[in-house]
Amino acid sequence: MVEVTEPTVVIVGAGPTGLSAAAELRRLGVHGVVVVERDKEPGGIPRFTDHQGFGIQDLRRSMTGPRYATSLVRQATALGVDVRCAVTATKLADGSVELAGPAGIEVVRPRVTILATGARERPRSARLIPGDRGAGVMTTGQLQQRAMADRPLGRRAVIVGAEHVSYSAAMLLRHQGASVVAMVTEQPGHQSVAGADIVGRMWLKAPLMTATKVVEIIGRRRVEGVVLEEMSTKRRRRVDADTVVLSGDWIPDNELARRSGLEMDPMTRGPLVDASGRTSTSSILAGGNLVHPVETAGTCSLEGRLLARALAAGLADDPRSATGVRLHVRAPVAWAWPGRLDPTAVPPHVLFQLSTTTTARHAVMRQGTRVLGTTRLRHGRPGRSLRIPGTVAASVDPGGEDVTLEVES
Ligand SMILES: Cc1cc2nc3c(=O)[nH]c(=O)nc-3n(C[C@H](O)[C@H](O)[C@H](O)COP(=O)(O)OP(=O)(O)OC[C@H]3O[C@@H](n4cnc5c(N)ncnc54)[C@H](O)[C@@H]3O)c2cc1C
Repeated sequence: MVEVTEPTVVIVGAGPTGLSAAAELRRLGVHGVVVVERDKEPGGIPRFTDHQGFGIQDLRRSMTGPRYATSLVRQATALGVDVRCAVTATKLADGSVELAGPAGIEVVRPRVTILATGARERPRSARLIPGDRGAGVMTTGQLQQRAMADRPLGRRAVIVGAEHVSYSAAMLLRHQGASVVAMVTEQPGHQSVAGADIVGRMWLKAPLMTATKVVEIIGRRRVEGVVLEEMSTKRRRRVDADTVVLSGDWIPDNELARRSGLEMDPMTRGPLVDASGRTSTSSILAGGNLVHPVETAGTCSLEGRLLARALAAGLADDPRSATGVRLHVRAPVAWAWPGRLDPTAVPPHVLFQLSTTTTARHAVMRQGTRVLGTTRLRHGRPGRSLRIPGTVAASVDPGGEDVTLEVES
């Protein structure tokens, strides 16, 4: 017999977004807040990321990932949030959520469900890297899980990617006694913070190879090397390595959202949302890396709080779906968040986030031919996400045409 319970809010995913949204809802006096997490412990990705750099935006200090995760879990449980681990949300339909856990299947009927299922790196199969299929090719997430489980890592690693997480992987490998023989990116530079390449070269001893791609992985049983190609000259060379770490290239963990029929955003591949996390279905919200892969944990945590505040304010009435005008981007912008602009959803301090494939200096937002706002971009590096003050969209006409966002060099 399937038990049916009725909490007020069910949050799927106990990462920084879900835990912070839950804690904020409790602070605002909302009862019956349940967080479900498919892992056996809560905390999301930071749980596996044992280095400094977490909590800067939300807790105003730098902590290691596991300490940060523990502090978010403690905060939520101290406020009375019911955090249930080893429980997977498998289906959302007609206002109910099906949960599969150690006790079997349970169906809950919350007033609102918040999806905060995060993002994951695309595996090798999705990246179409030719070559042999020997062991030793993994994503950063898999590398972290191996390290947590004390399983041996390789001795010589090539890291594909040069964003924050790539440097995190380099740190982990060095810490475990492996050498990083190359960090390879197709972009003209790294996509991390200023000075990352210096830290990479001097401290991590990980040479950065820009405008370079991996064209082959060699090694039938175990990786023995990779073939790298300089993109401008097409010159190739082999580098000996026993490990290849695929970092970046994120895809939202969007399975549940897609299967529940939410309108999806082709830019981000997460559910289409407004800045308050409202989706195409009135009883379902979505936030964090599920809707913009990927931002820092602190950014996701602040977004979780914001989403909770917007939800708590509207919970007395019936929550409504996102209705604002659509935001489209023009190349070289890869994606922008949020994909729906609704002046009632965007407080002036909310930022748009976008990712471009070239260096960009200015962003212009237009509705039809009318310029809504122009903003100068700082750190407009390709592949790195940028922020635009929400005020540029303050004059959006909610009944008007779609809005476009483009950048100029
Ligand atoms: C290697 C690496 C290094 C990083 N370094 C930093 C750093 O130094 N500083 C920083 O601020 N950020 C860093 N980040 C980014 C940060 O970890 C993420 O931005 C943050 O964890 C995103 O939070 P989230 O809650 O949206 O998603 P996640 O943390 O991914 O949490 C989502 C949770 O949802 C659960 N889930 C998914 N589907 C279901 C389901 N159907 N049912 C139940 N549960 C489900 C998952 O198991 C997961 O626990 C790093 C990330 C990586 C990978």
